[in-house]
Amino acid sequence: MIIDGHTRTCGLIGNPVEHTMSPMIHNTLAEKLNHNLVYVPFHVEEGQIVHAVRGAFSLNLLGLNVTVPYKSQVIPALSQVDELAEKIGAVNTLVRREDGFKGYNTDMPGLYRAMCSEGIQIEGQDVILLGAGGAARAVAFLCASKNVSRVYMLNRSLEKAEAVAEEVNEKTGKKCIYPMALSDYHELPEQKFLAIQATSVGLYPDVDRVVIEDEEFYRKVHTGYDLIYKPSQTRFMKMVRAQGGKAYHGLKMLLYQGIIAYELWNDVTVSEEMALQVYEVMKEKMGIKEEA
Ligand code: NAP
Repeated sequence: MIIDGHTRTCGLIGNPVEHTMSPMIHNTLAEKLNHNLVYVPFHVEEGQIVHAVRGAFSLNLLGLNVTVPYKSQVIPALSQVDELAEKIGAVNTLVRREDGFKGYNTDMPGLYRAMCSEGIQIEGQDVILLGAGGAARAVAFLCASKNVSRVYMLNRSLEKAEAVAEEVNEKTGKKCIYPMALSDYHELPEQKFLAIQATSVGLYPDVDRVVIEDEEFYRKVHTGYDLIYKPSQTRFMKMVRAQGGKAYHGLKMLLYQGIIAYELWNDVTVSEEMALQVYEVMKEKMGIKEEA
């Protein structure tokens, strides 16, 4: 690519950022769409997030992604926050406006687009949601906004699940999130569920771990969606498949949260065909030979 006086810059702010796949997503898109844009990771030290965002604005950056641990801490540095991001309380995309950056959350719509692309329907389903951390919170909002029937939110710390459930139920007015302790999984109704794995258990390098070891649990899962994408075949996915269910990893969620950010920055629509071309580049980089 040629960098010249017109090149626009986007990037990722977080800590750490060294293993990110986001530059691959955005630089591939820029190249394929012939946009004069580069995307760079920026490691931001603790306590520096507000300075970093103000500096980025002064340097005329077009947009930023935000990753751990700054998705909530970044909010005071913004001129506006989109309604959905405000509800979720987490911002992962900053879009340049006249008076500062506006914050969006593209994780949640990214997961929805990823699920649609896999043919997974969430509307009207009964869902098991494993976890109550930042990602699970966004998933709970997604489920409530897509009119799922019930979401059983299972978490190691019950109090955290209770707090998230109360907040999501109140903010959406849907009353569909039911908090449970992870250890009470055997109390789930006897039926089949869509299960969304949103804990960090099983993430590389601890690839042999899974949040629930009991195979009985997996008999209740018709479709398992693991937000983890490294490894691309998690133990959770293997256990779902061993009981006859379908299982997916979270790489497409990562892809679509990036694509939605790119669309916001550049005011374009990225076609599904283009998205899948970028996905092939990501899979190649990850060494994923065949689809899950
Ligand atoms: P987080 O806020 O730190 O939450 C971690 C969750 O995992 C909590 O619910 C925690 O339970 C649970 N957990 C951790 N260790 C556990 C253990 N030993 N046993 C049982 N539960 C345990 O993390 P996050 O930001 O929500 O991220 C969660 C996962 O989603 C990560 O693996 C991340 O890579 C993935 N993710 C993927 C994408 C994507 O684009 N595909 C996007 C965002 C996140 P407690 O509350 O009891 O501690």
